[in-house]
Amino acid sequence: MKRFALSALVTAMTVAGAAQAGVTDKDILNDQMSTGDVLTNGMGLRAQRYSPMDKINTKTVKDMRPVWAFSFGGEKQRGQESQPMVKDGVMYVTASYSRVFAVDTKTGDELWEYNARLPDGIMPCCDVINRGVALYDDLVIFGTLDAKLVALNNKTGKVVWKKTVEDYKAGYSITAAPIVVKGKVITGVSGGEFGIVGKVEAYDAKTGKLAWTRPTVEGHMGYIWKDGKKMENGISGGEAGKTWPGDLWKSGGAATWLGGTYDPDVDLLFFGTGNPAPWNSHLRPGDNLFSSSRLGIDPDTGKIAWHFQTTPHDGWDYDGVNELISFDYKANGKTVKAAATADRNGFMYVLNRENGDFIRGFPFVDKISWAKGLDAKTGRPIYDDANRPGNPADSKDGKKGKSVLAIPSFLGGKNWMPMAYSQDTELFYVPSNEWSMDIWNEPTAYKKGAAYLGAGFTIKALKDEYIGVLRAMDPKTGKEVWRFNNYAPLWGGVLATKGNLVFFGTPEGYLRGLNAKTGEVEYEFNTGSGIVGSPITWEENGEQFLSVVSGWGGAVPLWGGEVAKRVKHLNQGGTVWTFKLPK
Ligand code: CA
Ligand code: CA
Repeated sequence: MKRFALSALVTAMTVAGAAQAGVTDKDILNDQMSTGDVLTNGMGLRAQRYSPMDKINTKTVKDMRPVWAFSFGGEKQRGQESQPMVKDGVMYVTASYSRVFAVDTKTGDELWEYNARLPDGIMPCCDVINRGVALYDDLVIFGTLDAKLVALNNKTGKVVWKKTVEDYKAGYSITAAPIVVKGKVITGVSGGEFGIVGKVEAYDAKTGKLAWTRPTVEGHMGYIWKDGKKMENGISGGEAGKTWPGDLWKSGGAATWLGGTYDPDVDLLFFGTGNPAPWNSHLRPGDNLFSSSRLGIDPDTGKIAWHFQTTPHDGWDYDGVNELISFDYKANGKTVKAAATADRNGFMYVLNRENGDFIRGFPFVDKISWAKGLDAKTGRPIYDDANRPGNPADSKDGKKGKSVLAIPSFLGGKNWMPMAYSQDTELFYVPSNEWSMDIWNEPTAYKKGAAYLGAGFTIKALKDEYIGVLRAMDPKTGKEVWRFNNYAPLWGGVLATKGNLVFFGTPEGYLRGLNAKTGEVEYEFNTGSGIVGSPITWEENGEQFLSVVSGWGGAVPLWGGEVAKRVKHLNQGGTVWTFKLPK
């Protein structure tokens, strides 16, 4: 025991003593191509989750073996949705209940651990998860379930600065990984199920000083801080409540709960926004901007440069937060600066990332019931009014509106779990689910810190054999090139590599590597608990490593109705697994 502790200490000293430079803006911009580290959530600010490494490939992957496994320990398990980061031989990974660990990448030894002291009254809607840290200079920055940003020293795990982003008692929390763009740490907030007001904020990454704030519900004022002075930064959208009735915009939701991406080409942040609050759409006629949308935001000022709303007047909690991923393609001899997103509502969209213009949209799930299709010019859904959950006011006692069967369920054709884009195959690898829900509306009123839905629901599988489908989608044609069906719903991220491989995990515990061109299974390993995290890969001393966090949980067992029964035999956990090829 003593010897073990000593060796851990020596390792820690070696790591601390090694030549270490702080993470710079340039390092962050170059992260996708620099194979020796992982400095951004998404394996690059564009979040393509593509690695140019190919030592682990369709020929060699069968020999890939775990080299160490690190347990988060304690009684606190639940969902582990983190993506690890790697810098100078140290892995920085978050765990449930707002914990951060620094781990030696050679041995799996713990270097330090940070536990946020969470108050009793936190209100996470969808499990006590965290999706990862941001790295900047010598800081490790992350968001907590009580809606704070915390910056830790990367060698000691000690707090350098801490900021309250919002009031957790009003339902705010943070679960997404922040990103750092031009020296500013950018974060969103969760809480759309509690009638919060969504926003995106930028803080000086070194000091934690607030730089700008941009509310994402139309009518709210934004602010920018210059030389210590708070100045108005313009009203989000046009007039207050233009697309909202009465005062409902004051508790309008549109939570930016998944964080964002950044594209240096067009110098814009891309953030998605969640459902308008409450879920009962009959209480809020109008488009309810900027809910269920993607936003292009100026990283220097917080100005909304463009918006694209996927589900105007959302009545199903389809949200619109899913990641928007930049990619270029050639059409008529010209390069199109595009970006794609696979929405909870079952449609995948390709947008012009310079101005948010709709290029094309197509279903990526087998069945969609709530809309007849998309307007070919604007991308606006063509609603089927018979399939919108009914107004409780039309019922005899005014207590329950007409129930409808909606496909997909509100957990989405795709939820938070990030897709990957391969620069080799030019395909998106989309973790998706086939499920439906009975949904009905009920009366509700806003009350600070209380659930604000005005809806009830039961989620059901569409098929006995599977719910999860990993799909290879061609963004130029909208065609599904291949698919891999999985019994349990998929809830973890995807990684594509130049080795012609696509890695992802399943709730049954498997880390799988599929052939990127054909979908054939080339690798599988059971990690002992469900995977709802996102795999990464990097290299050290000429060897390619791959890591993934295992630990079943997240929204499915909490919100999944009939589906929750189907996965209740799955065991919780909390372990980082790291793999490589034999020497
Ligand atoms: Ca890198
Ligand atoms: Ca929501």
